[in-house]
Amino acid sequence: MPHYFDHAATTPMREVAQRTWLAHASALNAGGQYASGRQARSVLDGAREDIARLLGCEPIEVIFCASGTEADNIALQGLWKRSGGTIAASGIEHPAVLETVRALEHHGAAVRWLPVGADGTICDPEAATQGADLVTCMWANNETGAIQPVEALCANASGIPVHVDAVQAVGHIPVDFHALGATTLAASAHKFGGPRGLGILLAKRSPAPSPVLFGGGQERGIRPGTNDVASAAAAAAALREAVAEMEAEAQRLRALQHRLLDAISSIEDTQIHTPAHALPGHVHVSFLGAEADSLIMLLDSQGFEASTGSACSNGVNRASEVLLSMGVPVATARSAIRFTLGYTTTEADVEALIAVLPEVVSRARLAGMA
Ligand code: PLP
Repeated sequence: MPHYFDHAATTPMREVAQRTWLAHASALNAGGQYASGRQARSVLDGAREDIARLLGCEPIEVIFCASGTEADNIALQGLWKRSGGTIAASGIEHPAVLETVRALEHHGAAVRWLPVGADGTICDPEAATQGADLVTCMWANNETGAIQPVEALCANASGIPVHVDAVQAVGHIPVDFHALGATTLAASAHKFGGPRGLGILLAKRSPAPSPVLFGGGQERGIRPGTNDVASAAAAAAALREAVAEMEAEAQRLRALQHRLLDAISSIEDTQIHTPAHALPGHVHVSFLGAEADSLIMLLDSQGFEASTGSACSNGVNRASEVLLSMGVPVATARSAIRFTLGYTTTEADVEALIAVLPEVVSRARLAGMA
């Protein structure tokens, strides 16, 4: 079994989620007006109620969709359809948000890019909403793990719709949609041990995103299409477990994260990109003079799975837009690798990684930068 250090990309499906998924795999159409339809509907309603309770919203505000990417797209495109005007966004957003904002810019949106500090957080949340008609900000960054000041941003929005991409946050740190006061919030089940291919969009009753998909009217017409009942139920089961374990798990991961960070600091010429106020499972670091691709391949050959965390890589190592937005030089950004720990990570995994890292880094440095 490889040592898996890419939990922020996707985390293994929890056993409880697998059991729940199997139990409902033969559920039929939750919109059917007959016994099997009512049965599927009651499973779907149960999942919706659980997720609403766990994320601090009303069941009607839970919109099931197919991915975090889809939730971000529906929210941003749908809210901008209503508001038009200027979108305020940061350059550290995940491509699901970044590319949607860029596409809207192409369709006439003005975009104000929010400045980001060297610690990977947006600088002035109080000012972020000024002059904006729509604001979007992630709760926690997928590469560095940096937690963003979303509370301050929402508190200062004074009526301007705010979308929060909480894909990395949900199931890992407490998330309360009503307390936050955002208009929409995106989550994705496979990041907290649910099935891949199940997104969750939380959408206030008003203003709700205008539909960008048209069809049968399911999910308040915001995301029409026959529901995947088994995946919704499995996502709810995974979230129940993740939330129940959250405090203890965060403590456990924080200890492992510190152990790994300490060991990395003793390797020379490293730059840590994960700030102190970050998700407990993230360790994002540049080993100067080593190409990230070489590090990933060398680690893979020894049974360690990690990535750059940057979705733009696609087989070609380009500098991460997140790191560039933080003012990190291109060469440093190209030597950045992300280790993300999760609920299956053990102390033995971390110690095994620590044992091989110095040798891997020096071999990657010998290979040089392309
Ligand atoms: N937003 C963030 C912050 C993410 O980390 C990801 C996935 O990595 C997404 C959105 C997209 O989620 P999905 O993979 O479910 O489409």
